[in-house]
Amino acid sequence: MSKTNNSEVIIVGAGPAGLSAAKVLADTGIKTLVLEKTKKCSSKNFFSGIISEEPLKEIFTNFCDHSNGKIMAPFERFVDQYRAYILQEDSFTSFNVQNNKQNSYIVLREQFNSWLLKEAQKAGAQVITGTAAKELIISNGKVSGVKTDSEEFFANVVIISEGVNSVLTKSSGLRVGELRSNQIFTFVEENISLSSGVIEERFNLSPFNGISAKLFTQAMLGMPSIGYIYTNHNSISLGIGILFSELISKGINPNECLEKLKEHSCIKPLITNGTTKNYCSYILPAPSLKSQNDKSLKLFSNGCLLIGGAALIIDIFSWDVSTLAILSGKAAAQTIIRAKELNDYSAKTLAHYLPLVNELHEIPLQDDNLNMLNNFNESILQRK
Ligand SMILES: Cc1cc2nc3c(=O)[nH]c(=O)nc-3n(C[C@H](O)[C@H](O)[C@H](O)COP(=O)(O)OP(=O)(O)OC[C@H]3O[C@@H](n4cnc5c(N)ncnc54)[C@H](O)[C@@H]3O)c2cc1C
Repeated sequence: MSKTNNSEVIIVGAGPAGLSAAKVLADTGIKTLVLEKTKKCSSKNFFSGIISEEPLKEIFTNFCDHSNGKIMAPFERFVDQYRAYILQEDSFTSFNVQNNKQNSYIVLREQFNSWLLKEAQKAGAQVITGTAAKELIISNGKVSGVKTDSEEFFANVVIISEGVNSVLTKSSGLRVGELRSNQIFTFVEENISLSSGVIEERFNLSPFNGISAKLFTQAMLGMPSIGYIYTNHNSISLGIGILFSELISKGINPNECLEKLKEHSCIKPLITNGTTKNYCSYILPAPSLKSQNDKSLKLFSNGCLLIGGAALIIDIFSWDVSTLAILSGKAAAQTIIRAKELNDYSAKTLAHYLPLVNELHEIPLQDDNLNMLNNFNESILQRK
């Protein structure tokens, strides 16, 4: 096994959280190495979702061209409407929930993530793809690097940003135990091709504008569930997540729920004659930021920080899929910049990360109407 020891910070995982941390660190001249297990970054996470301009442009200053205001990050459509659909078995109600106060955009993960990666590289971060971190290296009670299949990489701090299915987090002892089946949502998402003109006609949109919709499907499926629609430029992303324990107890495959959703009188006219381009499934934890108070999860240790999905900094009820992850990456980078000034990467100094993460609780990710619907959905979850 060859030894490489040339970074101040190693980041495991080039998702939105890891790349945001990398960009902030590299901007201040900190030698940063990002390891990403997939060959083409995020090739397995093709999903579409919403990103908001405000938090992003502070980190990624090339987000827009300041001379003419043109958005430089690849986006599908500007979010013109946030819509909620409440689906009953045979009927539905829909209404617009809020205006786009935050300047949000619909993005396809693959294109968006590739752009984040290039921006982090331009700032000076080194990114090695096709390389999975297999194990943390721990010496004298401190995390001092990671092992891959063929190499050892050393650094002052390791940031774990592997996403929700975080193997290193569990092996590091920072996350103890498994999430229970009533704490996990299983999602399936289909990306359905349709021409941009058809999408605009069916959703009553002008060119470049799109909608982000939450589907409240409880009454239709009889199970704690939540769905969504995003209009991309020339496709629609349709997804549904169901509480895992319910799928098990009822012996239902989540694909059946998606198929049922596609046949619903609200959804069918929107996707008619579309062709399935992509399909994915993924899990997300049911509890939102409350998980940080959970004793089974620690966000830092000597020489190590957890960010984004790996730290369960996720809110499945929000419109915005990555803002919390991105901001946790920024918070971790700020913590490390401070640790460098103090030349102390112990847990005592890295604990500075915690109040920064707690501040993320205060960020209003949606307006009161959606909060009300989400609270209703969460109260059903708590009864399960
Ligand atoms: C379809 C879909 C919809 C979603 N909707 C929401 C939502 O509504 N709200 C929400 O908060 N979140 C949502 N998420 C989760 C969302 O992806 C995360 O909030 C956010 O992307 C987390 O970013 P991250 O960088 O922490 O992790 P990820 O985006 O999961 O990125 C982790 C990266 O680490 C890499 N990796 C993993 N293990 C290793 C290893 N050992 N070595 C090297 N690299 C590794 C992976 O390949 C990946 O590129 C959704 C996810 C999907 C797929």
